[in-house]
Amino acid sequence: MIQAPSRPVRVRIAPSPTGDPHIGTAYIALFNYAFAKKHGGKFIVRIEDTDQNRFRKDSEAMILECLRWVGLPWDEGPDVGGPHAPYRQSERTQLYREYAQVLLDKGHAYRCFCSAERLDLVRKERMAQKLQGGYDRHCRSLSAYESAQRAKNGESFTIRMKMPLTGKTVFNDGLRGDLEFENDGVDDQVLLKSDGFPTYHLANVIDDHEMQISHVIRGEEWISSTPKHVVLYDMFGWQRPEFTHLPLLRNADKSKISKRKQPTSINYYKRKGILPEALRNYLALMGWSYGDDKEIFTTEDMIEHFSIERMTLGGPVFDLEKLAWLNGHYMRALSTDSYVKFLQRELFSTEHLERIVPLIRDRIEKFEDFIGATHFFFSGDLRYDTAQLLPKGRSAADTAQALSDALDALEVIEFWTVAEITSAMEKFLAAKSLKAKDIYMPLRVATTGAKETPPLFESMEVIGKEMVRRRVRCAIAALNAVPTSPA
Ligand code: GLU
Repeated sequence: MIQAPSRPVRVRIAPSPTGDPHIGTAYIALFNYAFAKKHGGKFIVRIEDTDQNRFRKDSEAMILECLRWVGLPWDEGPDVGGPHAPYRQSERTQLYREYAQVLLDKGHAYRCFCSAERLDLVRKERMAQKLQGGYDRHCRSLSAYESAQRAKNGESFTIRMKMPLTGKTVFNDGLRGDLEFENDGVDDQVLLKSDGFPTYHLANVIDDHEMQISHVIRGEEWISSTPKHVVLYDMFGWQRPEFTHLPLLRNADKSKISKRKQPTSINYYKRKGILPEALRNYLALMGWSYGDDKEIFTTEDMIEHFSIERMTLGGPVFDLEKLAWLNGHYMRALSTDSYVKFLQRELFSTEHLERIVPLIRDRIEKFEDFIGATHFFFSGDLRYDTAQLLPKGRSAADTAQALSDALDALEVIEFWTVAEITSAMEKFLAAKSLKAKDIYMPLRVATTGAKETPPLFESMEVIGKEMVRRRVRCAIAALNAVPTSPA
């Protein structure tokens, strides 16, 4: 059971800016927000951007913009500031180094001088022997003197925590009760990397403490990290926050929601014309029940009735049809004035039209042809005539495979611009030894529903990455449904 708050409620979401703003982030944010509001507390956004390899420049701005659109205003964060600024971990690295030194001094951590090659070898050997943990704690037994000497001589090292070698670590989860972990099964986690940057674990615990976070409400994928975190709190002598791990959103097949199977970017739902109030209502239903089978409620209403205990542990399946049904309800409730304003803001914004007009102006002679020639810039899923998707002489299976490979090539594009799409597709053609016509025609029909359209990559840029990928997935499904003709 989650404890009645014994200190001021302060909760946070801590997204890592590594890609498109994820629908799971909005889901976790909603529950943190509702919990904070229910208890008169604060809701904080902290950006966890210390993993320099995975970090993407534009991602933080997109995440904040999407969360703002979802309508979950935060009290403190990198953009609005607050008493515990900075709220971006990359601006707090000095603090993590100081605290790592505290753990070294207290004997709760040690320097590890093992090379990447040795660590790799050890990991593989331990895996082959089915041993727990990937590291053999080789440097844990170095004397303090030798460790300090080697550091002084400029040898590169990481700092690892000294997990207790015996006993259990127990923590209470707000939904699951006490969870127990055997300590000898938990690795001596690296806390500070050799470049002086912290790992997620160290930075996360220090910031949650420094920012006086009272309740950590996050996805269940972090459960296995929590024993390390609570041991760190104990080592520092800090009060632990209450932990609650929320069930992850799932695909229809119950696997963890993934962009391979369905759109996960908040941008997609925005582009699809989902109303933020409908999305919030839908995300609330994913993990919580209002009671009395009530399915349609506002966020304010949710807050009033909210308790973590009424959350469900079963993996909630993210169901686009249910979301659409709910959205329909909110859409019908709009006044004509709000309806028109929504259309003008989201579908027919000046910005969107200004991107479309240059692509179409040389192709039509009367304004009445505009909608017909451009409908795919405004619509969602398309219907396919599978014959149109097939280049001459290619089978449905070949074409589905080519589109699926193209989907992978499109997925890794970081900045969705004509230049990047062109270069990704050229590389893809060369790597797969495909002819341009074998992929560009199916791709054109998949993304626009037509064979004659404005230039493909320009159109793809305007349609947007998530929508293009969604349509290609639908086209693949249509091709896979084509019966194979008997040989
Ligand atoms: N940075 C982690 C993430 O990307 C935060 C996990 C947590 O809330 O502790 O989800």
